[in-house]
Amino acid sequence: MRVDLRSDTVTVPSTAMREVMSQAPVGDDVYGEDVTVNSLEERVAALFGKEAGVFTPTGSLANQLAIRMLVSPGEELIAETNSHVVRAELGAAATFSGITTRTWPARRGLLNADDPMEIARPSAGPYLVSTTAIAVENTHNFGGGTVQPLDQIAKLHNEASKVGIALHLDGARIWNAHTASGVAFTEYAKYFDTVSVCFSKGLGAPVGSMMLSTKEKVTKARVWRKRYGAGMRQIGILAAAAHYALDTNLPLLAEDHRRAKFIAEKCHEAAASVVNPSEVDTNIVGLDLSQLPVSSAEFAQMVKVEGVLISSLGPNFARLVTHLDIDDAAMTYAAEVLAAALKHALVSK
Ligand SMILES: *Cc1c(COP(=O)(O)O)cnc(C)c1O
Repeated sequence: MRVDLRSDTVTVPSTAMREVMSQAPVGDDVYGEDVTVNSLEERVAALFGKEAGVFTPTGSLANQLAIRMLVSPGEELIAETNSHVVRAELGAAATFSGITTRTWPARRGLLNADDPMEIARPSAGPYLVSTTAIAVENTHNFGGGTVQPLDQIAKLHNEASKVGIALHLDGARIWNAHTASGVAFTEYAKYFDTVSVCFSKGLGAPVGSMMLSTKEKVTKARVWRKRYGAGMRQIGILAAAAHYALDTNLPLLAEDHRRAKFIAEKCHEAAASVVNPSEVDTNIVGLDLSQLPVSSAEFAQMVKVEGVLISSLGPNFARLVTHLDIDDAAMTYAAEVLAAALKHALVSK
């Protein structure tokens, strides 16, 4: 059996999704004439209570368009140390927008509003870099799929807005946060000036993300999207996949969460120090292997020979992610393989 838990990006579009894509009415989106893209942008903007949205090929581009709208060259964005915008977008904010970043560390990536506010330096004058935006990731990917506490988001919004600092939500997996917490999308989004969402993670679309904001910012971002080379034509076929994902796959995320929890419990039973199942909020399980005599790369190799693929993200940190293409049989098999490998690693000292 082959069970790919490296990421929720590895899902393959289902036959039903491909069917819907093949039937989608399309037009030239650079001319604003793709009705399927237009309806998706309107639908998702309304879902989050924002005025408008712009479809992008990747979540990175959605984040970068948002950052571009909030931070001017020579200013800074601050974010958690392990956030996607600073670790996984290859320096795009510096390269494209000419901005700098500073980071604060947080256990499991969990937001405490005091952390960013302590390092933020708004209107820093002519000698120091001015902080003009703060990014929050929800759920936090490298933090282990952590759902951010709404009270801390509200507090951050309150304090940042007092000093004129804008907020960006990297909501690549906001779908999972909503599923786990029951907090409405509009409630999450209302504290942020810009929001990015992905259709190609747990929702299972092959491609597609969106940046949401005011009409004014989205109109400007559209120009930058074209400038960056991502003005696309008959992409209604991609927007149709996102529509389908919202209709059909969004309600299935709770199953991914249940399966991640099950795998975490089996790993915990085999080696208690690697994961606390009560800290597995969503579909991501982070394994802390620091108490075991194997590196995460060695551990990933041990389970790979049994057909279970996981990601080694740090010397002692491995990550596994449940998704649409992992059913109960795959879950059970993966849990058995992981538990056996952990037990084996424990005695191999
Ligand atoms: C996947 C992801 C993105 C976007 O990634 P792309 O591969 O560019 O689509 C952004 N933020 C987070 C937290 C992610 O996990």
